[in-house]
Parts: sequence; structure tokens; C-alpha cells
Amino acid sequence: MSAVLLDGKALGLKIRQSVKERAAALKQKGITPCLAVVLVGDDPASLSYVKSKEKALAEAGMESRDIRLPQSTSEQQLLSIISELNKDDKVHGILVQSPVPKHINEEKINAAVAPQKDVDCFHPDSVGNMVLGRPGFLPCTPHGVLMLLREYNVLVAGSHVVIVGRSNIVGKPLANLLIRREYNATVTLCHTGTKDLKYHTLQADILIAAVGSADLIKPDMVKEGAAVIDVGINRVNDSSLPKGYRVCGDVDSAVIQKAGFFTPVPGGVGPMTIAMLLQNVIEAALATAGK
Ligand code: NAD
Repeated sequence: MSAVLLDGKALGLKIRQSVKERAAALKQKGITPCLAVVLVGDDPASLSYVKSKEKALAEAGMESRDIRLPQSTSEQQLLSIISELNKDDKVHGILVQSPVPKHINEEKINAAVAPQKDVDCFHPDSVGNMVLGRPGFLPCTPHGVLMLLREYNVLVAGSHVVIVGRSNIVGKPLANLLIRREYNATVTLCHTGTKDLKYHTLQADILIAAVGSADLIKPDMVKEGAAVIDVGINRVNDSSLPKGYRVCGDVDSAVIQKAGFFTPVPGGVGPMTIAMLLQNVIEAALATAGK
């Protein structure tokens, strides 16, 4: 048996098309949705993420305010740039690409972004609203995973979802969203302190890997027919390729033979993250229109 592939590229494009139509409607009202994209330093992976976000914004007829800052930027300098962007009525969303250099306190940066422009859902207020089920932005990658599950009618209610990885941007918010009544899943969250990872992953009806460890999840760790969602994006050295590396997920691709559903890397969760980001920028711009 081979799994049904959850095509995030196709669904992402569909969402982006609808975003484009909504952006055009907003433009008619004189509002061009705009995301400020702030990158500190020149980490190649971060630069490539930022560029794909900017490209997606342009394709959707939205604006990006591209702000590139040197690695030496101080925390204070970054905070004052965010403060200016918070006050700028033409900017509807602010994204500071993570990770920021080590001398900058990322928590302070996240808390400095005005919650109404916090399209990444990193501000403590946004996180609190999300946990409490109050209105607000949903975090892009977790929201993208939920949209993919819905698109392919993967049964979530009553299912046992096992998430590997407890990061603030993927694992924790996903667990919180999945236990909402509207999803009604039973969630197990595994992390570096988990004693027997395989014991847990084998229980999963839906297994979500968000670890950052290439091919960590092997076929013998997956229940036959499970839906396997691979959030991981890892670069593995491969001198036979022109770039010198290949991109792979946290799940060994051999799992495809055992799983019922499977997200490819690339082309699974990654494109969904960008689509949901664009959707949040539209929501932020719409909120401005409503004022
Ligand atoms: P992170 O590094 O912040 O957290 C990783 C988590 O994995 C930690 O909570 C840790 O406890 C857990 N972990 C590490 N090794 C483990 C092990 N052997 N067993 C069990 N748990 C273990 O990671 P993150 O920011 O959530 O990112 C995870 C991966 O997802 C990375 O590859 C990242 O590039 C990718 N990512 C992809 C998208 C996307 O759009 N597809 C978005 C965000 C992150």
C-alpha cells in the first residue's frame, strides 16, 4: 500500500488564489495589504524563507516592506524599527524572521509587535487568545496542517494525534488547537524528555513530526494506515547535488509504504505555512478596513 499524498502545494495555491481575489477587493477600497518582512543577518535558510514569502506576497497582489538588517543590529535598534512599523498605517502585518541573532532576545521582539499586526501569532497576547479559543490570528504552520487534514478529510475528531516536538511555533500551538472542541482530538505531545518515542508514535492515528531531525521517524515507528504529517525541513549534505545538500523532512520517506496519508517534503506543510501567512495579512488589512 502507498499513502495518499497530502498536496500542500496544490492546496496552498488554491488558498493563495482566494487571497489574491480578496486583496484585489481591498485594493478597490484603497487598501493594499502590506506585510513588513524583517530579516536580521544573512543566514541562507532564513534568506530563502524570506524571499519565498516576499515572492508569494507579490504574486497575490500584496505589498511587502522588505527590511534587511545586518547581523550587528542591536536589540534596541530592532525594537525601534518595530515600533515605527507598529505606528505605520500602511503596514498591516509585521514578520520578524526567526531566528534572530543570539545577542537579541527573541521573546522581547515577539512581544514588541503590535498584536493586531502579529500575523505570525508569536505575541503572548496572540498565543493566549489562541489557547483560550478567542478570536485572533492562528499560527501559520499549525493552521496549515489543520487545513491540509481538512482538505483530505482525514478523520481528526476522536483520533489520537501524537505530535513530536514542543516548539512554541509548531508543537505547542498544534496541540492546543487540536484539543479544541471543533477538532476534538486526543493529543500526546512528545519531546526530548520522552522516554520511549516509538511506543508513543506507534499509537498515533495521526502522527505529526516537528523536530528538525532528518528522517528521525522510521517505518517501524508508524502504525499501518496512520496519517503522517512531516513539518520538518532539514538540509542534509549531499556532494552529488549541485547545491551540495538535499532537503528532507523528519520522516523517512519509506514511511509512505505504511502510512494512509503522507505529506511530502518539499511540497507538503511548507507551502501551507506561506498560504496561511498571506491569509493572516488579508485578515489584518480587513480589520483596518473595518475601522
Ligand atoms: P525546534 O527546534 O524549536 O523544536 C524541536 C522540538 O523537537 C523540541 O521541542 C524538542 O524537544 C523536540 N525534539 C528534538 N529531538 C527530539 C527527539 N529525538 N525526540 C523527540 N523530540 C525531539 O523546532 P521547530 O521550530 O518546531 O521546527 C521543527 C522542524 O520543523 C524544523 O525542521 C523546522 O525547519 C521545521 N519547520 C517547518 C515549517 C514549515 O513551514 N514546514 C515551519 C516551522 C518549522
